[in-house]
Amino acid sequence: MNFAKGNLGWIEVICGPMFSGKSEELIRRLRRAEIARQRVQIFKPAIDQRFAEDHIVSHSALKIRSASVKDAAELEAALDLRTEVIGIDESQFLGNGLVDLVVRLADLGKRIIIAGLDTDYLGRPFHPVPDLLAVADEITKTLAICMQCGNPAKHTQRLVVSDELIVVGAGGMYEARCRRCFEPNLARETAPTSTRASNGTGAP
Ligand code: ADP
Ligand code: ZN
Repeated sequence: MNFAKGNLGWIEVICGPMFSGKSEELIRRLRRAEIARQRVQIFKPAIDQRFAEDHIVSHSALKIRSASVKDAAELEAALDLRTEVIGIDESQFLGNGLVDLVVRLADLGKRIIIAGLDTDYLGRPFHPVPDLLAVADEITKTLAICMQCGNPAKHTQRLVVSDELIVVGAGGMYEARCRRCFEPNLARETAPTSTRASNGTGAP
């Protein structure tokens, strides 16, 4: 895609499980936009304060400054009209209003780069990411390494027992698993407690 021609807006989505390099890839693209002296604004959900309040931080410790917002309305209110490139991390926590907003922004000529989990701890589509994929111009699906067998991993395995959709955490609470090693029932309160979940992983 040639971004030099006119002000054609564009939606890029980077999706995959935890630890698959979504934040790294988002940071890489945003840094290049900054090097090209484009006006960049970067957002993440206020719910995600794992590593820092004012930065997106990857599991490999890359970071870039960001503003925290609770939903699409807050994100829109914080936007500077002159901004050319908008980066959004952990989009699965920002609600369905994000879909309409990014379409409107792309129609206005903005480049939007969004990262997010495509599936939840049970392997189900994690909204609004599937809807963002539908409106995207370009999609990158990233894979992690399965922590059980070393194969490419598309799932996020929750290691602590909870039926809550959102349990914010990283190492120790989640790990990447391939399709074969993924065990959604490990995280369910209805399932028998496994030794893994009750041993040193912070399970209640
Ligand atoms: P995401 O945003 O998808 O959660 P990050 O960009 O934050 O991913 O982190 C990716 C980095 O995480 C990798 O470059 C690697 O250093 C580290 N990492 C830790 N566990 C794994 C794993 N199981 N598979 C791949 N990378 C992993
Ligand atoms: Zn595996």
